[in-house]
Amino acid sequence: MTDAGTPPGPEGAAPAIRPPRVGVLAVQGAFAEHEAAVAAAGGVATQVRTPEQLTGLDGLIIPGGESTTFGLVAGRSGLLDAVRDRIAGGLPTLGTCAGMIMLADATTEGGQSLVGGMDMVVRRNAFGRQIASFEAELGMPVVGPEPLAAVFIRAPWIERAGSAVELLAAHGGHPVAARQGHLLAVAFHPELTPDTRIHRLLLDMIRRGRASSRDSGTGGERVRAQ
Ligand code: GLN
Repeated sequence: MTDAGTPPGPEGAAPAIRPPRVGVLAVQGAFAEHEAAVAAAGGVATQVRTPEQLTGLDGLIIPGGESTTFGLVAGRSGLLDAVRDRIAGGLPTLGTCAGMIMLADATTEGGQSLVGGMDMVVRRNAFGRQIASFEAELGMPVVGPEPLAAVFIRAPWIERAGSAVELLAAHGGHPVAARQGHLLAVAFHPELTPDTRIHRLLLDMIRRGRASSRDSGTGGERVRAQ
């Protein structure tokens, strides 16, 4: 006997899920390239210049540029505090180059405003003047077995990291990519190469966060006590 009487239905089909909406901080630096990379990776990108524009985001990118300028400009506008708040609330965030510096709890030299959130100390302009900008192939198993072509521009490295920080890649013996919970930081510029695996990793972190909040019955980000 066949099962012909069973009406075809959407049973078992995955519910339609809208693509993750990722804000790209557009204070300065290479934000247009990040928007294109988010779209290529399957997300929807939107520029963020004000605290209000952080509303309704599933994820965030802090691009490269100059971390001291970013700290000053975003500090004045209130954006820095607002970003800190959203990150403390569990918003999945990728920081690249200067963005990695912003996500660190400290720099070796100190004296600048950071977002913080990752238990690590970074050294700015760590690779020195002679080799200020270069491209290198990185082994980064978390994005797959193929080496990742990484563009470094006056890049930082991770000088020290706490045990909660997962080191994901190194160059010349120095860690240049790390993850701590919902925060992902890379010292290079993944938006400048056609390889979208770093942006896809952020989108995966967003989707995993959604799935675990569905399982635990909370809505989206971690629920904070009021
Ligand atoms: N050297 C910059 C800084 O210290 C970072 C460079 C970059 O983002 N490409 O903030």
